[in-house]
Amino acid sequence: MINFHFHDDRSSDGEAPLLRHCEAAVEAGVTEICVTNHAEILGPDGSWQADLEEMRARFFSVGESVREARRLFPDLGVRLGIELEYRPEWTDAFDRLTAEVPFDFVLGSVHMVDGFNVSGGSSKDLFFEGRTQESAYSEYFRALDAMVQWGGFDAVAHFDLVKRYGHRHYGPYEPAAYRHEIQPVLEKMAARGLGIEINTSGVSGPGVPYPEREILVWARQAGVPTLTIGTDSHRPDSFADGLVEGVLLARSAGWEELTLYDRRIPAATIALERAVAWAEGRNSREAP
Ligand SMILES: [Zn+2]
Ligand SMILES: [Zn+2]
Repeated sequence: MINFHFHDDRSSDGEAPLLRHCEAAVEAGVTEICVTNHAEILGPDGSWQADLEEMRARFFSVGESVREARRLFPDLGVRLGIELEYRPEWTDAFDRLTAEVPFDFVLGSVHMVDGFNVSGGSSKDLFFEGRTQESAYSEYFRALDAMVQWGGFDAVAHFDLVKRYGHRHYGPYEPAAYRHEIQPVLEKMAARGLGIEINTSGVSGPGVPYPEREILVWARQAGVPTLTIGTDSHRPDSFADGLVEGVLLARSAGWEELTLYDRRIPAATIALERAVAWAEGRNSREAP
C-alpha cells in the first residue's frame, strides 16, 4: 500500500517529525510513502508566503530527514515530495525550487480562489456566502485549469477540494453539472502527462474522498496517465485514514493500478488488486 500525500512538522500546519510518520506507516502496513510538505509557510501575520531561499533551505533539510528515514526503516520506501499552492505570482519561484531540489514527486494544489482560502481559515465562509454553488465551483475549476496550464508539477492534488466546505453551504454537488469546466482540465492533464490523486482526507469531511467517482472515470477515459493515493494527513495518528475507502473508490472507477514516482518519473506501479487486498485485510482487522 502507498501514501503519497502527507505532511510532517516541516509543514506550517503539520505535526511530528518524519520518523513518527514512518512508524505509523509501518504499523498500518503501508510500504511506500512520500512526504509532501507545503512549499509555502504561514507568516506571522497569518498569510502564506513563498520565499525561494527559505523553501530551498527547508526542503534540502527535509531531504536529509528522508535519507535518515531510509536508513532507519530499510523496508519502507521513503520519498521526498512537495505540495505547491498555485498562485501566478509564485510559479517562477516554484519552477526554480523544483529544478534545484531533487524531489521524487510534486503535487499541484488550488486552495486560494479569488483571494479566498476555500479550504480553511476564516475567509472560506466569505467566499461561499457570497456565491451560488454554481459560481463558487466554476471559479474553483477555472483556477484549477489555470494551474494545469502552468503545469510545473506531476499530479493534481484533491481535484474537487472546493467541496470540503462547499458541501456544508450547498449540500452534495453533482460533478456532471460542471463537466464543461472539468473535462478541459482533464484533457490538458492528459496532454501534459499530469496525473491525478485520490485524496482520502475527504472521508472525514464531506464523507467521500477527493475527487468524486465520476471525475476519476472521466480522467481515465481522457487519458490522464497516472493515479496516486494519499491521506493528506498532518499527524501520525491519522496517517492511514481513509485509504480503505480510497482504494475501493479507485477500483469502482475502473483504475487498475497505482503509480509510484521516483525523481519525478512514474517509476513503478502497484496492481490495484494488491491494494484492495490490503484494504480488505485492514477492514477485517478493524471489524468488531
Ligand atoms: Zn492541499
Ligand atoms: Zn496536503
